Amino acid sequence: MGFSTNLQGKVAHEALLSRQEAELRLLETMKRCINIKVKCEKDYAAALSAVASQGMKIDRGDDLTGSVVCATWKTMMEELDNTAKLIRHNADNVENKVVDALNALCAEKRKVRKAYQEEHNRISHQFSQLSEEVNRKKVDYQKYLDLYKLMRCKFEEIYIKGGRGGRKLDEVRDKYQKACRKLHLTHNEYVLLLCEAAEFEKDYRTVLLPGLLEHQQSLQEAFVATWKQILQDIVSNSDLTSEKHCEIQKRINSSLESIKPAEEYKDFTEKYKTTPTEPVKFTFDESLVEDSAGKLLPNQLTVDNLTVEWLRNKLTELEASNKENQEKRIVLVNGHNSDSLVNGKPLSNEINNRLSVISLESSKKEVNELKCQERKMLKQIELIKSALNELGCEEVPSGCDISIDNQPAFIESPREQGDGSQSTLNKHLSAFDSHRLVKMLPNVLRKPFRRRSAPSSPIAPPRTKGRRESVPRSEGGDPVSLTTNKSLVDEEWFHGVLPREEVVRLLTTDGDFLVRETTRNDECQTVLSVCWGGHKHFIVQTTAEGHYRFEGPAFPSIRDLILYQFNSGLPVTQRSGAILYKPIPRERWELNNDDVILLDKIGRGNFGDVYRAQLKNSNDIVAVKTCRVTLPEEHKKKFLQEGRILKQYDHPNIVKLIGICVQKQPIMIVMELVPGGSLLTFLRKSASTLTENQLMKMCLDAAAGMRYLESKNCIHRDLAARNCLVGYNNIVKISDFGMSREEEEYIVSDGMKQIPIKWTAPEALNFGKYTSLCDVWSYGILCWEIFSRGGTPYSGMNNSKAREKIDGGYRMPAPENTPDEMYRLMLRCWEYKPENRPNFEQVYTVVETLCSAYRATFC
Ligand code: ADP
Repeated sequence: MGFSTNLQGKVAHEALLSRQEAELRLLETMKRCINIKVKCEKDYAAALSAVASQGMKIDRGDDLTGSVVCATWKTMMEELDNTAKLIRHNADNVENKVVDALNALCAEKRKVRKAYQEEHNRISHQFSQLSEEVNRKKVDYQKYLDLYKLMRCKFEEIYIKGGRGGRKLDEVRDKYQKACRKLHLTHNEYVLLLCEAAEFEKDYRTVLLPGLLEHQQSLQEAFVATWKQILQDIVSNSDLTSEKHCEIQKRINSSLESIKPAEEYKDFTEKYKTTPTEPVKFTFDESLVEDSAGKLLPNQLTVDNLTVEWLRNKLTELEASNKENQEKRIVLVNGHNSDSLVNGKPLSNEINNRLSVISLESSKKEVNELKCQERKMLKQIELIKSALNELGCEEVPSGCDISIDNQPAFIESPREQGDGSQSTLNKHLSAFDSHRLVKMLPNVLRKPFRRRSAPSSPIAPPRTKGRRESVPRSEGGDPVSLTTNKSLVDEEWFHGVLPREEVVRLLTTDGDFLVRETTRNDECQTVLSVCWGGHKHFIVQTTAEGHYRFEGPAFPSIRDLILYQFNSGLPVTQRSGAILYKPIPRERWELNNDDVILLDKIGRGNFGDVYRAQLKNSNDIVAVKTCRVTLPEEHKKKFLQEGRILKQYDHPNIVKLIGICVQKQPIMIVMELVPGGSLLTFLRKSASTLTENQLMKMCLDAAAGMRYLESKNCIHRDLAARNCLVGYNNIVKISDFGMSREEEEYIVSDGMKQIPIKWTAPEALNFGKYTSLCDVWSYGILCWEIFSRGGTPYSGMNNSKAREKIDGGYRMPAPENTPDEMYRLMLRCWEYKPENRPNFEQVYTVVETLCSAYRATFC
C-alpha cells in the first residue's frame, strides 16, 4: 500500500500537497521552539552555576571542620555546577546540530514539494492536451464528413443532369474528390490520434503518475528518517537519565550516604569537650528581711491583710494556668499518637517513620517544657496553699504597723516588735498607763467599771500547766470572770469594735485574750484575739446549723465557745497552739455606749456631730464626738485616732479624753466639755469685750499646751483658732487632734488635699516635711487670729496666692493694737527656714515674759 496505488485521485493529490504544507509549518514551529528551548536551557544553566557558586561560599572558619553534612553540601554544589555545564553543553549541541538539520530538512522538503507539483502538473497537462486534440480531431472529422457528403450530392446532381462531361461536372468532380480525400485523411489522423491518446492515457495511469507518486513517497520517507534523527538528537540532548546525569546523581547519592547523624558531631564534641556547668543556687538574701521585725521570713510567704487578696488571686491565676497547661500537654500526647495518619490516610512507611521521629522529638520537647512549667506552677501553688492553709480560722494578721492612712500605729505591744524593743517612732508612746487616765477621771466615772468587773459565779478554770488564773483579774486588780448567764457583749473581755492596734497593746502575756468585733467586706465578724508568741486573731466560724466553732466542737453561742476554749485548756487551733489563760477586761477608758446619754448637738465635726452629753453613772456633763455609722471602716479607725493620741495627754491646755465607746455603733469619743466652744467663734463673738491682756493670756495658754505637746514629740499639724476650745475663765485648750502625729518629723507622701494652706509652714507645703517647728509657724498665725479677734489670715488672697506671696517673703502685718513684742514673735514664728524659728519652749518663755510685763504695766 503506497502512494502510487492509493493517491492517484485528484483529492489525494490535493491532500498530499496540504500534508506537505502542514509538515513544513510543523518544521517551522519546531525550529522556533527549539531555539527558545536552547535559550532557556542556557539561562537555566547559567542560573544553576550562579546558585552553585553561591552555595560554595561556606564559612571559611574551622567551625564546620569535620562536618559531613557540609562536605555533602559541597559535593552537591559541585555537581550542581556540573549539571549546569552539561545542560549548557547539550543546549549548544542542539543549537549547532539540530537547528541546522531542521533548516536543511525544511529547505529540502520545500524543494521536493515544488518538484512534485510541477511534475504532476506537466503530465496532467500533457494528458489533457491530448484529450483536447482528440476532441478537436473529431470535430474536424465531422466537418469534413459533412463537406464530403455535400460535394457528393452536388456531383451526383450535376452528373445526372448534365451527363458525362462538361466543365462544371469536372469542377464538381474535383471538389468531390478533394472532399473525399480530406475526409479520408482526417479519418486516418483521427484513428492515429485516438491510438496515441489511448496509449498515453494508459501510460499516464499506469506508469507516469504511479512513478511520480512512488518517487514522492520514497522522498518523504527519507525526510521522515532525517526528521526522526533530529528529534532523536533533541531527546538525547535533553535526557536527564543520560549516563552523565546519572553519574552526577550517583556522586551526590554516595556523598549523601556518608552522612551519619549519630557521627556528625563526634569530632566536634571531642574537640570542645567540657565539664557540665555547676548548678546555680537561688538563695534568699536574709539581710533583706533583717529589719522586718519578723514579719517577713526568708523563703516563706507572708500572709497578712496586705497580701492575702493578692495571694488568693495569684493562686486562682496559677491554678487556671496550670489546668490550661495540663490540657495542652494531654492534647499534645494524644496528638502524637495519631500523627502517623495524615488527613486520615496512613503515610508510606519511610515518610511515616521520619515524620514521626521529628514530630516525636518536637512534641517530646514541648511536653517537657510544659511539664517544667507545670512543676514550677505546682510548687508555687503548693507554697501559696500551704501558707493560706496555715492560717486556718485565724484572722488575717495585719501586715503593717501603719494604719490605713499611712499613719504609724502609735500604740503597739512591745511583743509585736519581735525582740521586745520599741521602735523609735513610738518608744515614748507605748507606755501609756491606763491608770493615769483613771486618775484623770472624776471619781463617779470609775464606778461603772468597778461594778462591771465584780465577779459573779466564776467558772473554775481547769488546773492546767502554766499560769492560768483560777480567778482572772483585771488590770485594776478587780477579778474578771467567765461567768454564766451573761450575754457576750456584757462580758468584761468583750471589747466591741476596739481597733486591732489597741487590742494588741492590751494583750501582753501569753494566754491573754479578749473578744472583739470587726467588719470585713461589710460582714461583721467576731474575733478572738490571743497573745501567744505574738498576737493571733481567730475568726469565729459559723456552722451550717448556726453554731459557732474554731477547730473543735461547735456551740450555740460565741460566749459558750469561748468558755469552752478557756475551760478545756485546749489550743484554739492546732497550728497556733494558742491557749486561753487570762481574759483581759476592757480598760477604764473603754466606756459602754449605753453609759452615755446624748443631750444636745453643739457642733459638727468631720466624722459626725458633736454633742453635749451626760454620763449615766456620774451625771457628769461631757462633750461627745460621734462617728457616722455609714462611714467606711478606715474612716472609723481614723476617727479613733484622735482618742488614741489624746488619751496619753494630761495638761490643762489640752482637751481631755474621758473615754471611747466602741462596744457598738455609733462609735464615740467622750471628752471633757469645754463650755466656750471653738476659740474662733468665741473671738468673733466677744471681739469688742476682749482686752489685750486676755488675748495675751490666750496666746500663753496655747503656747503652754503646745510646749507640752512638743515635749511629747507630738506634731499637731492643724493648730488654728477653729481647733482650739475656750473653757472657764477663757482658758484656751488645744483640741482636734485628727491630723496629729507623734513623731519628731513626719513626711507626708500622699497628696495634700486637706491641708490648711494658710496655717501651714512652707517646708510642709513644699516637701511634706512636718516637725514641731511647723506647729510654731501655725502658732504665729493663731496669735495673729487672736489679736485680730477672729480675723481671716491673708484675707483677700486665695490659698495659692497666699502661698506664692509667702514664698516671695511677704508676711502679714500686725493686727491693730498688737504689742510690738508680740508681732516680733509672730514674725519669728514665720521665719522661712524652720531652724530660724523658736521652739515652743522658747515661745512660751517669750509670751510668759510678755504677759508678766503686760500685767505689771497695765494691771
Ligand atoms: P472634728 O475634729 O471632727 O472636725 P471638732 O473637734 O472640730 O471636730 O469639733 C467640731 C465642733 O464641736 C468644734 O468646733 C466645737 O464647737 C465643738 N466641740 C468639739 N469638741 C468639743 C469639746 N470638747 N467641748 C465643747 N465643744 C466641742
